[in-house]
Amino acid sequence: MLQIPFNKPYLVGKELFYISQSVLSGHISGNGMFTKKCQNFFEEKYGFNKTLLTTSCTDALEMCALLLDIKPGDEVIIPSYTFVSTALAFVRQGANVIFADSRNDRPGIDEDSIEALITDKTKAIVPVHYAGVSCDMDKIMSVADRYGLYVVEDAAQAIDSRYKGRPLGGIGHLGVFSFHETKNIQCGEGGLLIINDEKFVNRAEILWEKGTNRAEFFRGEVNKYGWVDVGSSFLPSEIVASFLYAQLEELDTIQERRISIWNKYYEELKEFEADGVVSLPVIDSFSTNNAHMFYLVFNNIDNRTTFITLLKEKGISSVFHYLSLHESEFYRSLYKGGVLQEADKYTDMLVRLPLYYELFDHGLDEVIRQIKKALNKIKKS
Ligand SMILES: *Cc1c(COP(=O)(O)O)cnc(C)c1O
Repeated sequence: MLQIPFNKPYLVGKELFYISQSVLSGHISGNGMFTKKCQNFFEEKYGFNKTLLTTSCTDALEMCALLLDIKPGDEVIIPSYTFVSTALAFVRQGANVIFADSRNDRPGIDEDSIEALITDKTKAIVPVHYAGVSCDMDKIMSVADRYGLYVVEDAAQAIDSRYKGRPLGGIGHLGVFSFHETKNIQCGEGGLLIINDEKFVNRAEILWEKGTNRAEFFRGEVNKYGWVDVGSSFLPSEIVASFLYAQLEELDTIQERRISIWNKYYEELKEFEADGVVSLPVIDSFSTNNAHMFYLVFNNIDNRTTFITLLKEKGISSVFHYLSLHESEFYRSLYKGGVLQEADKYTDMLVRLPLYYELFDHGLDEVIRQIKKALNKIKKS
C-alpha cells in the first residue's frame, strides 16, 4: 500500500558536502562562513536591510519581543489562528496578547478587525502570512502608523512570497522566517530575523551574541568586547547553517517543484467547490503563492473527520492545523475577548494535504485519485 506522509525532509544536493566543509574549516560554532553566506543570500536576493540567522523562528520572535522592549501590561495584537510561537515570545515578556479573528475567505488575520482592538496599551501588531499568502500589508502598516505601533511580520511560512511585488518579511519593522523541517526551505530547526528598521540593527546583533558587542569587535569597530545588554545564544551552529545554505542555493528549483504540486492539486480539486462540501485556498491578487501549503476547508467538522479517516485507510496522511490560541488550555482562562467565529471555523474544518519536495515521484497522481474518491463519497453521504 501507498505510504504518503504529510511532510518529509529531503536533500537537494550539497547539504552533506557543506556540512563536512564547515567541520574541515575548523569553525562549527555560530556566525561563521556559512551563516554569513545565508544572511548575504537573503540580503541580496530580497534586498533585506539586515538579517540574522537564528536557532528557530520562535527565537527570532523572542528577539523581536526584546527589541520592541515589550513589558508587563503591554498589548500585542496577533491572530488566534496561528502557531503558539507567534504569541509565546510576547507572553514571556509579560504582554497580554489580544487575539484577532481570521478572514472569512482565508485563515490570515482580518485586517479590518485590527483597529477596534487597539488601546493605549497596544505596542505591536503581529500579522501571520498563513500558508505563505500575504496579509493586506498596506492596511496593516497604515493602521500601525496612525497609532504609532510596531509591526512584526510572522513570515515563518512565507519565504519567497510577495505582497504587491515586495518580499514578505521585508515590510514590517521586523520580520521572521522559519526553516523548521515542515517549511519550504529547511535545516531541521532554524530561523531568520529580518531587521527592516535600521534603529534595531545594533541592539539585535548584541542580543544575538549573548548580550555582548562581539559582532562589532569582529568587524574591528571596538578593540575589546564585553557584556553590554541582555541577550541569549540565538545563533545556530555552522553545521546547521551549512545545511541551510545548500537548500538556499536550490531555492528556485524547490519552489518551482512545490508550486507545480500545488497547482496540480488546485486544478484537479477545483471542481469539488461547486458541491459546497469543500473550499480551496484563496490567494488575494496582491499576493504571490509560495506553495507552502495546500489546504481544504470543509463545510463541517464531521466531513473533515471522515475525509482524514478515508485517506488514512489508503496510507495517506492529511492533517488539521491550529487549535485557536484563545481557546487553548494555557490562554482560555486569560482570554477576555469575544467569539472568534472564523478562527473557530478553521480550527474545526481545515485540513492540509501532503506537500513535500519529492511528492511527485512518490505518487501524487494516486494521492489525488484517492482524495477525489473520498470527496465523492462524502458528497453522496
Ligand atoms: C513554524 C512556525 C513558527 C515557528 O517556527 P520555528 O522555526 O519552529 O520556531 C512560528 N509561526 C508560524 C506561523 C509558523 O508556521
